[in-house]
Amino acid sequence: MAQADIALIGLAVMGQNLILNMNDHGFVVCAFNRTVSKVDDFLANEAKGTKVLGAHSLEEMVSKLKKPRRIILLVKAGQAVDNFIEKLVPLLDIGDIIIDGGNSEYRDTMRRCRDLKDKGILFVGSGVSGGEDGARYGPSLMPGGNKEGAWPKNQTRAPLVCSVGDDGAGHFVKMVHNGIEYGDMQLICEAYHLMKDVLGLGHKEMAKAFEEWNKTELDSFLIEITASILKFQDADGKHLLPKIRDSAGQKGTGKWTAISALEYGVPVTLIGEAVFARCLSSLKDERIQASKKLKGPQNIPFEGDKKSFLEDIRKALYASKIISYAQGFMLLRQAATEFGWTLNYGGIALMWRGGCIIRSVFLGKIKDAFDRNPGLQNLLLDDFFKSAVENCQDSWRRAISTGVQAGIPMPCFTTALSFYDGYRHAMLPANLIQAQRDYFGAHTYELLAKPGQFIHTNWTGHG
Ligand code: NAP
Repeated sequence: MAQADIALIGLAVMGQNLILNMNDHGFVVCAFNRTVSKVDDFLANEAKGTKVLGAHSLEEMVSKLKKPRRIILLVKAGQAVDNFIEKLVPLLDIGDIIIDGGNSEYRDTMRRCRDLKDKGILFVGSGVSGGEDGARYGPSLMPGGNKEGAWPKNQTRAPLVCSVGDDGAGHFVKMVHNGIEYGDMQLICEAYHLMKDVLGLGHKEMAKAFEEWNKTELDSFLIEITASILKFQDADGKHLLPKIRDSAGQKGTGKWTAISALEYGVPVTLIGEAVFARCLSSLKDERIQASKKLKGPQNIPFEGDKKSFLEDIRKALYASKIISYAQGFMLLRQAATEFGWTLNYGGIALMWRGGCIIRSVFLGKIKDAFDRNPGLQNLLLDDFFKSAVENCQDSWRRAISTGVQAGIPMPCFTTALSFYDGYRHAMLPANLIQAQRDYFGAHTYELLAKPGQFIHTNWTGHG
């Protein structure tokens, strides 16, 4: 008998937690998984005593669903999603809804949306953020999809569950969110590096600094967990953090953001640097060899005022973070133009506040900025962010120049400042690039005084 409100396919960590969350909220969920034995394991353990139902085949799962049927896929992104869609389509009716909650590539989502629309099936590509805890107690959802009806049926709890936009918009927004997460994490690492190697602070002092910072504009989940990580001691009473191999992993969404930025010509430099910083970190063995040969500045003890330099680092982190979000929203804006999406930028900032890894007080300020001016071209041009960066600027430059003198790598702090300096220059040296291109390739150039007219000069000729 059809009794389930919704089905979920994919009983790994995200799927199991989301099922239990939906169960807590009164929905009857039917669980299914490729490896069917996991369904029985789940029902006998994690889901014991709940209203969750299980199915041992897709046919059984579909037969247990109320109409229109709603099916969430939370499986490994890529081929697995296509495989399930292919098997589901013959079992579904017009008007049924498939929701892909995995980290799918936005172009796959656009294709699936198009293909399923032709078959009368409604498709929602929804980013889900917040990790396993988010899935269990309140994820941030970033849905996009067929505007014809898939979303409005479910649009009950604004704003965390508002539709982001059409077809691939939800997964694009989730991708940019993940890229921003890469940036935030790398910025915190650079602050930690400066605290540790320029100021020579111990773990307790660093933890205290992050705890203090969490009471300022930087108030966020990532700053909060950084303080806890710094304090954490192993069974032997020593801090765990310095024992962890300094080789960062990645699953690809940061890279996708950087690739999209290159593809659409948007200078999202900070996320790009954050991805490359992880790549460099993973060259651990090569770096060990290089460290024995390549010399940098001597270890000079810091002679300035420690408290005031700590504040410089905090402001460098805050200003760089503003740049990163400004760049992320530039990419969203460009994608909206490319694909004809109508994106609600303030709404997106609010979505990222609820349950996301990048949740922070700061996102509320971004929402305010877009409320003040929905057509805002760049966050840096909003009065609040303009003064915030101006207020941090001297500290930001001091933190970077001190770090550079001490030989500390700060790819994200420095690229953020370079972006700021580039963006605020009416005249950049690209005139010389144009001259060089014309010199060696007759690519022509435009005179400032004659826009739209492209001319070529014979640079080696006389007069
Ligand atoms: P996962 O490890 O990404 O995927 C495991 C699930 O995918 C299992 O149910 C597995 O079935 C199924 N699967 C894998 N390959 C398959 C194939 N070729 N055909 C059919 N099914 C296949 O699980 P997860 O970490 O829970 O993540 C689920 C989705 O949410 C992913 O897209 C992930 O990127 C996204 N996500 C994850 C997090 C997180 O913190 N983990 C956060 C946000 C979003 P079997 O049991 O049969 O192997």
